[in-house]
Amino acid sequence: MELKPATDVLLVVDVQNDFCPGGALAVDRGDEVVPIINRLGQRFEHVVLTQDWHPREHVSFASAHPGRKPYETAETGYGMQALWPDHCVQGTPGAEFHRGLQLPHAELIVRKGFRRDIDSYSAFLENDHTTPTGLAGYLRERGLKRIFVCGLAYDFCVRHSAIDGTAFDFEVVVLQDASRAVGLPGSVEATDKALYEAGIQRISADEIISA
Ligand SMILES: [Zn+2]
Repeated sequence: MELKPATDVLLVVDVQNDFCPGGALAVDRGDEVVPIINRLGQRFEHVVLTQDWHPREHVSFASAHPGRKPYETAETGYGMQALWPDHCVQGTPGAEFHRGLQLPHAELIVRKGFRRDIDSYSAFLENDHTTPTGLAGYLRERGLKRIFVCGLAYDFCVRHSAIDGTAFDFEVVVLQDASRAVGLPGSVEATDKALYEAGIQRISADEIISA
């Protein structure tokens, strides 16, 4: 696929220690995306990173809901929220980017999920689906039009970032093999379907790296 260097952006979602093997919310083989994303990064003039960045006792932590366990759900002020192990706590090693990630030219880091009472899977909108992160405005002001999404995890933050990107009228492409999934029951199939229905193309990283 031919890139348009001035108006394409690589959006690297949550490639953080807690989502990699050994981390608090490890995505199976999550670290395998790192060398692929590094190679992708060399093809893009514009790179933006997201960083999951929670205060202690965050609403998405099972530990903040007495009697609940990770991977259950809880009712919140904005609807049902999946509950996770404590992860990506602000200022902790688990919240740092994987140390193999080499994207020194990245222009922006969007921190998300920093409010205690609301989670944010999407790089664009928090989980109430109305509170913006500011990324859409940033991309528009910068004249960036097409977003290539990769990172962790395919079935949550990559999925919701991609879908919301189209809702904000950006063209969105998902780099399938530069992502890895949490893989809860049905979550990958539901993501494939949601991306398809939103008209989002899924390609392999090699279609960019070898182009
Ligand atoms: Zn989180």
